[in-house]
Amino acid sequence: MAKLDIINVPDPLLRTTSDPVGQVDDELRRLMDNMLETMYAAPGIGLAAIQVAVPKRIIVVDTDGEEDERKPLFLVNPEIIWESAEFNIYNEGCLSVPEHYAEVERPASVKVKYLNYDGKAQEQMIDGLLATCVQHEIDHLNGVVFIDYLSKLKRNMIIKKVQKADRETKVL
Ligand SMILES: [Zn+2]
Repeated sequence: MAKLDIINVPDPLLRTTSDPVGQVDDELRRLMDNMLETMYAAPGIGLAAIQVAVPKRIIVVDTDGEEDERKPLFLVNPEIIWESAEFNIYNEGCLSVPEHYAEVERPASVKVKYLNYDGKAQEQMIDGLLATCVQHEIDHLNGVVFIDYLSKLKRNMIIKKVQKADRETKVL
């Protein structure tokens, strides 16, 4: 496995709509393995392929986070096919918006349809942090970042700070 580079806002790639995957093959599984390793190393609980500059509809998540008991989920072509009327608020972060967090309101539970690591069609009801995480990652596949839910003023302030931090890292 190999660790991949994560891109940060305001990289225009993060505004791209990712393409559906035709077939889950070994090459795609290699990409998913590398994404998972990248996510664990960051560390994070979710990663979309576009965050490593690959515009394909793939996300990996693991909201359990215990190193000795990892339960990764690989979702290819994920789609929300039902959402609850009830909402949850979580303080979200994003590996492409390092060091910044904000409260976002999303449906508390959703039913998601996807292809798994073996390319098999799945439907799953999820709730809690996992539901928030999967919705956050599916947003990435549609070019949406969690800071889009904030006011324009707040969003621009965060982007400026991330840019400044990235510039300073490069100088070092
Ligand atoms: Zn994110």
